[in-house]
Formats: sequence, C-alpha cells, structure tokens
Amino acid sequence: MNIKVIAFDADDTLWVNEPYFRAAEERFCSLMGEYLSRHTIERELLKTEIDNLTYYGYGIKGFVLSMIETALKITDNAVQVEIIEQIIALGKQMLDEPIELLDGVVEVLEELKDNYRLVVATKGDLLDQERKLKKSGLSSYFHHIEIMSEKDDANYLKLIKHLDIHPSELLMIGNSLKSDILPVLNIGAFGIHVPYHITWAHEQIEHSIDNERFRSVLDIKEILAFL
Ligand SMILES: [Mg+2]
Repeated sequence: MNIKVIAFDADDTLWVNEPYFRAAEERFCSLMGEYLSRHTIERELLKTEIDNLTYYGYGIKGFVLSMIETALKITDNAVQVEIIEQIIALGKQMLDEPIELLDGVVEVLEELKDNYRLVVATKGDLLDQERKLKKSGLSSYFHHIEIMSEKDDANYLKLIKHLDIHPSELLMIGNSLKSDILPVLNIGAFGIHVPYHITWAHEQIEHSIDNERFRSVLDIKEILAFL
C-alpha cells in the first residue's frame, strides 16, 4: 500500500450518531402510539425516509420532515398540532446533542496526523456536519471535510480528483459497508470497515466482501497495524 490520504467517515466512526436517531424514533413511536403498533410505525417511517432521500438527502432535517409526513399519513391528516410541535422539538433536540467521540479516535488521529493527509468524508446536512466537527474538537486533524449528498462511486472519484491523488493512494475508514467501503473498493481505493454496534436499516448489506483492498477490524485502533 502507498496510502497518501486517509478519509474518515464521521457518524458512528468518529462520534456517536445512530443512537440519537433510534431514541428519536422511539419517542416518535410513543407520540403516535394510539394510532398504530410500534412495528408498523417504524416500518412506515423508514419507508418515508427512504422515499424522501432523493428530495432531502441524509440528516436530521430530512428525518424531521419524514416524521411529520409519516404522522400525517398514519393519522389520515388528523394528527394534532401539538404532536407536530413535539416532532419539531425532537429534531432541534437532536441538533443540540453533545458530540461523544468514540473510543480510540483521538489516539488514532494523533498517531496518523504527521504521516498522512487526513480528511473527513461524510453525508448529511452541511450545517449540522460542520457544527459537529467544530464541536468535536477534531477539526485541526483534518485538511478537508467533504460533505457528500450520496456516498457513491462518482462522488468518491470527485473527492480523489479534488485531492489530486490516484485511487490506490486513498484509504477510507468507516462503519457502513454500503457507503464507506463498497464504492471505495469499486474505484480502486482501499477500505477498512470498523463496525458500530447499531446500523440504520438502509445502510445494511446482506453479502460479504472479498477484496484484497478490504479489511475489517473490531476496534478503530486496529487500523494502525495496517499502516
Ligand atoms: Mg457512518
């Protein structure tokens, strides 16, 4: 390997994210509890969220709009205004959550910062991701933050062009096989998967990956052994 740039996914790779979505989803299910079973509400919400990705992209703003849309749908437009108010408050509360760094992240960045160009490659709302990076105290480790509307082959190629490197000089680290690993392997770069204990249903893939440019580790500190 001749790695020049190491790109890190942000949510659930550098810091905790998915648990906040799960907690909000739970709160939403209790708000809507008198209309449908929890399971059905969750399924409706996920369907709305996925249908809305092309309109709003990833992140909390889109999630709030999807909760409101789901509330309207499952109540046949009879949802009380107070519930809409609470959904909006729920979204603002998510945006105000503190940043909780994952174990080993600072150690790893500290170890790598002098030998590699480090960047963040994430999706989500521009403003929210910028705010999270600032709050995380990690900004100074990174040369660049790339906020992508979708983590697909084309957008990773754009990143590589922007960084002025060859694909084989990029290593991507992330918790999502679908977004952080598969497209990166497709374009000829390297990927190390660091799973997080919960993954959003939309990010899950069924098959296993067999590629010489791919590794999976249990702890982010283990990536140092490959560099
Ligand atoms: Mg992630």
